[in-house]
Amino acid sequence: MTTTIIGYPHIGRHLELKSAVEAYHKQTISASELNRVAAQTRQQSWQTQAQAGIDWLPVNDFSYEDQLLDTAVLFNVIPQRFRQLHFSPLDTYFAMACGTQANTTFLSPLKMATWFNTHYGYFIPELEDPTTIQLVGTKPFDEFKEAQQLGYHARPTIIGPYTLLKLSRITSTKKITDYVNRLVTAYAQLFDRFDQLNADWLQLDEPALVLAPTKADLELFNQIYTTLLPQKGRLKILLQTAYGDVREAYSQLTQLNFDGLGLDFIDGQQTEACIQDKGFPDNKVLFAGIINGRNVWRTNYQTSLDLLHRLPVKHVVLSTSCSLLHLPISLANEPALPKTVRPYLAFAEEKLTDLVAINNLLAGRNPEFLTANQRLFNHSRGAENVQVTTRLHALTKVDYHRRPERKKRQRRQQQAIPLPVLPMTTIGSFPQTAADKQRVTAFKQGQLTKAQFQNATHKRLQECLTEQTKLGLDVLVTGEYSRDDMISYFDHQLSGFLFTKHAWIQTFGTYCAQPPIIWGDIAWTHPITVTETVAAQRLTTRPVKGVLTGPLTLVNWAYPREDVSLRISATQIALALQDEAHALEEHNIHIIQFDEPAFRSHLPLRQSDWYTNYFNWAIAVIRLVASHLQPTTRFHIHMCYQQYTDILDVLDQLDADALSLSATDPALLDALHNAHFATPVGLGMFDTAQFKVPTKAVMVAKLQAAIAQLGPTRIWVNPDCGLKLLDEPGALTGLARMVQATKQVRNTI
Ligand code: GLN
Ligand code: ZN
Repeated sequence: MTTTIIGYPHIGRHLELKSAVEAYHKQTISASELNRVAAQTRQQSWQTQAQAGIDWLPVNDFSYEDQLLDTAVLFNVIPQRFRQLHFSPLDTYFAMACGTQANTTFLSPLKMATWFNTHYGYFIPELEDPTTIQLVGTKPFDEFKEAQQLGYHARPTIIGPYTLLKLSRITSTKKITDYVNRLVTAYAQLFDRFDQLNADWLQLDEPALVLAPTKADLELFNQIYTTLLPQKGRLKILLQTAYGDVREAYSQLTQLNFDGLGLDFIDGQQTEACIQDKGFPDNKVLFAGIINGRNVWRTNYQTSLDLLHRLPVKHVVLSTSCSLLHLPISLANEPALPKTVRPYLAFAEEKLTDLVAINNLLAGRNPEFLTANQRLFNHSRGAENVQVTTRLHALTKVDYHRRPERKKRQRRQQQAIPLPVLPMTTIGSFPQTAADKQRVTAFKQGQLTKAQFQNATHKRLQECLTEQTKLGLDVLVTGEYSRDDMISYFDHQLSGFLFTKHAWIQTFGTYCAQPPIIWGDIAWTHPITVTETVAAQRLTTRPVKGVLTGPLTLVNWAYPREDVSLRISATQIALALQDEAHALEEHNIHIIQFDEPAFRSHLPLRQSDWYTNYFNWAIAVIRLVASHLQPTTRFHIHMCYQQYTDILDVLDQLDADALSLSATDPALLDALHNAHFATPVGLGMFDTAQFKVPTKAVMVAKLQAAIAQLGPTRIWVNPDCGLKLLDEPGALTGLARMVQATKQVRNTI
């Protein structure tokens, strides 16, 4: 059988491409030097794939910033405001991704969105009225020729017309179907060019097919491809999907004149069922995505072989479930990972060897690989923590139901720690100076002792408490000066996570991250935030709020285990955080907030799966952290920058004593009112990611509107999120106005 992959990471083995792009932005290298590094990165990745034994290589998966942006630019989908800059094509492209200084103002980049349910962010192309879609670039052809000249069997790839349309934002008065004709013509031209270049196949990536297409969507897809496919000439077309199954479109895909279908057997829960139930045409090739392209574990060869043997398909090419873009490049970059751990892991490069090994096994070669691989899965990898699993098994209903009910406990909370109407607080972090950030880095690198670090942060904490008191806030916070970020600060202090040193993945543009790996059972081993929170409480008579990152957000930002479900890991983290919350309580901290900005990140792509595959356990996990808190402890949840109006019933079931939400959506208050939302709401008074603070009058109006809809007793007042991203004057102005506005409104109640 032939082996191939959908795409490969391109930031460079040692981040060479990322560094080169950043250097180009700083004008320390020229465009031609940038091109040279880019070509080198591409060649290195082809060489790695070929050396691993992959037969057929994708090209044009390379990108400086993002493949969807590349496709948009290739077809002239460039908003007028970027065109008007009259920059070179390369600089126009970078302006769309990074923004640019245009005369006296800063022109913002294209808005971003999450790429399916991954951690990768893409730039949203904009279809304007004057946009004339046409093939204007040469990138895919150039890269194809480059690979051809090096003697590789290369398959050009590009995002398909349906996904391009579905993920773009139409800013004109036109309908989506108005763009079809020109787009089809442009793709047909692309077919022609590749045919002239003697390409045998072309891969069209249409992952948008997994987003539960409606009838109208399927008609659009049909309209596009019934006109486009007759123009393919000698070229064979692979319709490639990823990130889920295509249950709605499957029949249509098998009927259209595609030469190959690329299907995801990892995230595609119903992929196999579609094939078993509806069959797979003999005249098409199945590109079987059997290797998990987005998680870091070795493939279980036997599971893959069993699947392949079950499939009633004549022509199969072995492939990955999605592009390997979501994986670090190579385990070779992590020499410090223990020997006991390494055999279980597979980054991009190691996934290639998995693919080739499975192919060899299918052909009856190297049976010893199978034996070695089975050993990994048939023996314990020493990741269990018996105490944790015992505790998990012992959980019963009472662990998910806090007593007494909210109304009763809120009376007791108010008696224990009385607060004025419209209580004012912040979300946790305060602005960090360069020195603050340096201090955290120095401590992490071992250049500061714990005592030195704590002394220095304590000074900042004192200043922060003084500032909050001066402002007149009711519930104070530590300012979070000891946290580098809300995720890794907690991960590093819980047991069960595995960390890497150089295992970078691209998150958006040239931004990279290093998500930890959930290696085993997760447990709380020592207090994390207690010292600092108690230190803050000693400095004031007002209540100090403990702030913890929530279990769903922590589980979301790590590579999950494959031997247990996400629900189990999340439940373990919830129990660990329960321990931390109890430790805070024991030290007289009686307001505890859990931050869950990633609450929605795991939502299945199909709304019909939301409850069954996610909410049913996610709600339980959040309730678990608070179930045994004392009735007098206020349990707060913070979420930000998400859509809430469609999940208000879920949010109410979390049974929080207050839920702080960013209130930028003007429809939110109406929705809360109409849904009879029972949880008290913390209303975001200003956006902490923007440098413009609304006037006091605007804030007063917002509060009055909220009181009209929700009544005065169920509203907290706070910024949208932590203040970490703001500079100090901006944050203080925002807070001061928030306090003035609240005081003014309080007088009218
Ligand atoms: N407590 C965190 C902070 O204030 C919350 C961050 C977040 O929600 N993204 O920074
Ligand atoms: Zn937030």
